[in-house]
Amino acid sequence: MSEVFNFCAGPAMLPTAVMAKAQNEFINWNNTGSSVMELSHRGSIYMEMAAQAEADLRELMAVPDNYKVLFCHGGGRGQFSAVPLNLLPQGKSADYIVNGSWSKAAAIEAKNFGNINVINIREEHDDGETSLIPNDKWSLNRNAAYVHYCPNETVDGIEINYIPETNGVPLVADMSSTILSHDIDVTKFGLIYAGAQKNIGPSGLTIVIVREDLLGNAQQATPCIMNYKTCADNNSMYNTPPTYAWYLAGLVFQWLKELGGVKAIAKINQAKAELLYQTIDDSDFYNNNIEVQYRSKMNIPFWLKDESLNEKFITQSEQQGLMALQGHRIVGGMRASIYNAMPIEGVQALVDFMQQFEKRMR
Ligand SMILES: *Cc1c(COP(=O)(O)O)cnc(C)c1O
Repeated sequence: MSEVFNFCAGPAMLPTAVMAKAQNEFINWNNTGSSVMELSHRGSIYMEMAAQAEADLRELMAVPDNYKVLFCHGGGRGQFSAVPLNLLPQGKSADYIVNGSWSKAAAIEAKNFGNINVINIREEHDDGETSLIPNDKWSLNRNAAYVHYCPNETVDGIEINYIPETNGVPLVADMSSTILSHDIDVTKFGLIYAGAQKNIGPSGLTIVIVREDLLGNAQQATPCIMNYKTCADNNSMYNTPPTYAWYLAGLVFQWLKELGGVKAIAKINQAKAELLYQTIDDSDFYNNNIEVQYRSKMNIPFWLKDESLNEKFITQSEQQGLMALQGHRIVGGMRASIYNAMPIEGVQALVDFMQQFEKRMR
């Protein structure tokens, strides 16, 4: 089989080196004669691995000591409920910045648990360009319990390319599709969460990074497995954690460290995104309508000017080993998700195909 590049938005590509290592030790991990999947999460050998994975993630993101790192269940959407349950006491409200479909879904879910103030910052210009209202024009509530936003909108291909100023109100970020793709200053956040299946590992694991002073005020009805304090007090092992996903995430963290860390991967990510956007912008056959400064470096939607060619584009790209380029059903067109595990060779193969396809169809 010739090389396949998988542009799926999630679950997404994993580094080949990581999967090869996992395969190699699948039935005999660390000379235990067992798969890591079969071992107790309370055993010292498993707990050592788990602690190392946390230490590696802390190092990669420079997480300060006054933050807990939790390995949870329930995915990104689980956090849409967990965040208000833990951080939104009765009598308070939370601000939800909406710039795309995931931040909108987070706001809708949060309404089940308290008072939510939705701030739509998306702007469609007359010329068809999509842009965002700048931070200083957001009508934030100074007494809000927190401000929730999504720095990279996976479906829409929109990135808020700065950390919003919230005047002391804790900032909560859904980083499911952007975590570990470039450097961030964790101290600017009250809480960061990310489902693992885009930039961390397999699905089933959710990372939560939370400042300690925000723990301990959960609503009475908070399920124990969603209670950050309960999770933190038990080192994410109050109930059985997703043990295999935790292990595989640990391998991805090691891979990323060996590669030179987040700064090194950020350079590669920048080069990948530039290559693809350049190809789109240089052609009148393809189009991306997001204002340049807000374009996502992880999820790049693009549209064929002649939409009747969509099906041909998908069929022929698959024949070249370029998989899962169909756009999300609510935005249409194409989408290339190019997370950390996508090598630049994959993006090069995609742009080569796009240019050849354009020539053939003219
Ligand atoms: C994928 C995604 C989600 C949903 O994650 P699940 O694990 O499927 O619940 C939420 N937010 C963002 C930004 C995502 O990309």
